[in-house]
Amino acid sequence: MPELPEIDALAGFLRPRLVGDFVERCLIGELSILKTTDPPLESLAGLEITGLTRVGKMLIVDFEGLHLVCRFARMGWLTWHDEVPKGPVKMGRGPLGLRVRLASGAGFDLTEAGTKKNASVALVTDCGQVPAVAGSGVDALMMGAEEFAAVLAVSRSRIKTVLEDQSVIAGIGNAYSDEILHTAQISPFAPAAGVDADALLDTVRDVLTTARRSLVGLPPARIKAAKKRGLRVHGRAGEDCPVCGTTIAEVSFADRSLQYCPGCQTGGKKLSDRRMDRLLK
Ligand SMILES: [Zn+2]
Repeated sequence: MPELPEIDALAGFLRPRLVGDFVERCLIGELSILKTTDPPLESLAGLEITGLTRVGKMLIVDFEGLHLVCRFARMGWLTWHDEVPKGPVKMGRGPLGLRVRLASGAGFDLTEAGTKKNASVALVTDCGQVPAVAGSGVDALMMGAEEFAAVLAVSRSRIKTVLEDQSVIAGIGNAYSDEILHTAQISPFAPAAGVDADALLDTVRDVLTTARRSLVGLPPARIKAAKKRGLRVHGRAGEDCPVCGTTIAEVSFADRSLQYCPGCQTGGKKLSDRRMDRLLK
């Protein structure tokens, strides 16, 4: 799932290529990707792209008075074309969700590689009309120390859950919350209220800015692999922890998993899957 560092890198790549160009047309490859009907997608034709921003894990493309809010979910991503393939788009086949062709001939595809089609786009006149934007918490890199301390102090959730809750802190997902907690040497299931907020916020900033620095300037096709290379515990169950050498462990849930180092984070104890299921609720 693309998170803050990847979306920032993606926005950095796209901005000089998109802003100032004009939309020639939009083609839908998968009907379910479009969550809005008014204004219609056809109204983008002829409009200039005026800006590109990130809100949490979402990418927002601005046109003259219209905004396309792109949510990538777990398996969504973007393919850039210096020259958009000619010809019609085949509906409902393959990963293509939405294709935008620009007046210059360049353009991009929003894709969804999963069988569950969770990536989505919404075309709106005001970004606040998209509930995920309106309900988005404070950006993980803009968050102040007092604000973060206040969030943790009143929380009754586990720290991993709080870091990933987009309505509280926007931009961090499953991968970077694993990385942040590993670097901070905190168990993913430590109660948030008991965590040293100042120290953890420093780690949040360090991990996210380091990751962003390693991804900025890469084309979209290379961002995912570069992200993977930079991860120290996430997705690395069974490998040795680069800090202490302990075998990295994993907790599995119905549709995802988290990784942690028992040596660095839980005093050598293995977290049991069953116990975690209960604690996450
Ligand atoms: Zn370790």
